[in-house]
Amino acid sequence: MRLVLFGPPGAGKGTQAARLCAARGIPHISTGEMLREAVKSGTPLGLQVKGIMEQGGLVPDELAGAVVAERIARPDAARGFLLDGFPRTVAQTEILDRALAHSGPIDCVLMLEVPEDFLIRRLLGRANQGDRGEKRADDSEETIRERLRVYQRDTAPVAQVYEARGLLRRVDGTGTIDQVYALLEQALDGRPR
Ligand code: AMP
Repeated sequence: MRLVLFGPPGAGKGTQAARLCAARGIPHISTGEMLREAVKSGTPLGLQVKGIMEQGGLVPDELAGAVVAERIARPDAARGFLLDGFPRTVAQTEILDRALAHSGPIDCVLMLEVPEDFLIRRLLGRANQGDRGEKRADDSEETIRERLRVYQRDTAPVAQVYEARGLLRRVDGTGTIDQVYALLEQALDGRPR
């Protein structure tokens, strides 16, 4: 099964992606995680994207696309995978289509819906949990607002691409982790909510 978990920053994609993947035995492919890893290791890619990520911007489509294409081509992704944080622009949907041309298309795009005031509260909460080890370099208030702006401008249109293909399933992301997970599993079963 080839899945995309889609939604704004702070919607809980990372947590839910890990559970969905564990239940299916498929790799969790998070471009944010892979890019943070590159920054931490100081690779040429990491040096290129560090500043952009710290400011809450999107790294160039070709760079994010290359990271995903390489990851999807590995043997453990042959049975399926879940993409978390990709595609994030309409151009990236096209890069993904090309990367999947020989394996098979995306089966389902799960979209976590969370109102913006809720997201800001959640992200600011995470920003203030630095001493518990969860703080990220891009979790300052200014950066959080920039990431939400970027989401509305560049990423939200991706939903329309998949809606037009009949692949989009919307899920209320405001509940507890367990409640949202149950809704995601239901959406994947195709059962009514
Ligand atoms: P995330 O962990 O998904 O919130 O991603 C953290 C940061 O990594 C984002 O704010 C972007 O700077 C960068 N990033 C992750 N995925 C992508 C992507 N698909 N396209 C461009 N930039 C990305």
